[in-house]
Amino acid sequence: MNYTSRYTQAIINLPKLLDNYQKMASLAPNSQTIAVIKADAYGHGAIAVAKALEAANTCPAKLTKVPAFAVAFIDEAIALRKSGITLPILVLEGAFQQCDLNIAQQYNFWLMFHNKQQLQWLLDAGDTFTTNVWFKVDTGMSRLGFQIDELTNIMKTAFFKKITLKKGELEQETIQQFVLCSHLSDAENITKDKTSQQIKQTLALAKQFNCQYSLANSAGIINWPASYGDWNRLGIALYTSLAIKPTVPSIQLQPVMTLQSSIISIRKLATGASVGYGEIWQAQHPSTIATVAIGYGDGYPRSAKVGTPVYLKNETAPLVGRVSMDMITIDITDLINKNIQINIGDKVELWGENLAVETIASYADTINYELLTRVSARVPRVYLSH
Ligand SMILES: *Cc1c(COP(=O)(O)O)cnc(C)c1O
Repeated sequence: MNYTSRYTQAIINLPKLLDNYQKMASLAPNSQTIAVIKADAYGHGAIAVAKALEAANTCPAKLTKVPAFAVAFIDEAIALRKSGITLPILVLEGAFQQCDLNIAQQYNFWLMFHNKQQLQWLLDAGDTFTTNVWFKVDTGMSRLGFQIDELTNIMKTAFFKKITLKKGELEQETIQQFVLCSHLSDAENITKDKTSQQIKQTLALAKQFNCQYSLANSAGIINWPASYGDWNRLGIALYTSLAIKPTVPSIQLQPVMTLQSSIISIRKLATGASVGYGEIWQAQHPSTIATVAIGYGDGYPRSAKVGTPVYLKNETAPLVGRVSMDMITIDITDLINKNIQINIGDKVELWGENLAVETIASYADTINYELLTRVSARVPRVYLSH
């Protein structure tokens, strides 16, 4: 039974997601563009998103094909395999336990190796481990990855016994294939030179090891062509227009998720009356307030300030009072004064097609990533496939 009584839904427009993928991939035609679908595809539903991308690979049109997916940890990858996804899945945090290597081998997951414990497991597995190996190097994110010296040493000594040194250079044919990976920490910023340094270091290492490499995330793909590697890792730009961020003029990305709800109550307030918990807002003049059936229990941020826009009837109305668990209140006085009819049951949009999630994020002192990933499980995802 798919009956849902409440109108609160996240509408997921899959054709727009496929279009965003093509546009982003077209910026880097010489790279393979991995679709990052961790955290339930940034709240959009990883299985549905992966199925749509995988199905698009079979289209006869000359479209860029998705080569692989990426998730944060093995459990996310297993869920995708169990749902029938067949493409390779890169596991960005790699193994947490030794037996994760067996699972990776069994399911064709590509593991990231970024710490010494994982490296030891890899060495222990020896020749039995044959799936694609990724090594992470820390070029300034300071979160995961081997330091540059450390990695060079690992290559020379532990990884792999098969390596022979000739005139101080690593012999390529003896090294098990691996992809060198690093993560950009500030690629949205096009004025500082941190990213240039990270690019330089990664390229130098890839040359030294004569291996494939992967560096660019969405912001790298958009802002830093020099960061393009054999593999790019496309996340957020699959899902949103990145409004208010500088984007490449030649591509127009589209918001994939529209979070919507409906009005369930309307009331008039006298001057001085307060709305919601803690009386953080009082009517300065006679006002009309509408209550909308969505709250922080659905992932609408409690930190959203008074004045955060909510879209309805081709207009916006400001949020007033505090966000509750299941409801918010909006001031529709101006709309009523414009003779716009507003009734119980009317649809409102919290973000999406008509209201950039980036705008809401700025009112809530957060970022698009957080708002999208925090849409809670109780909000039904409704998929549009054309
Ligand atoms: C999440 C993630 C990405 C994708 O980043 P976006 O900014 O969403 O494009 C790429 N690489 C790694 C290691 C990640 O964790």
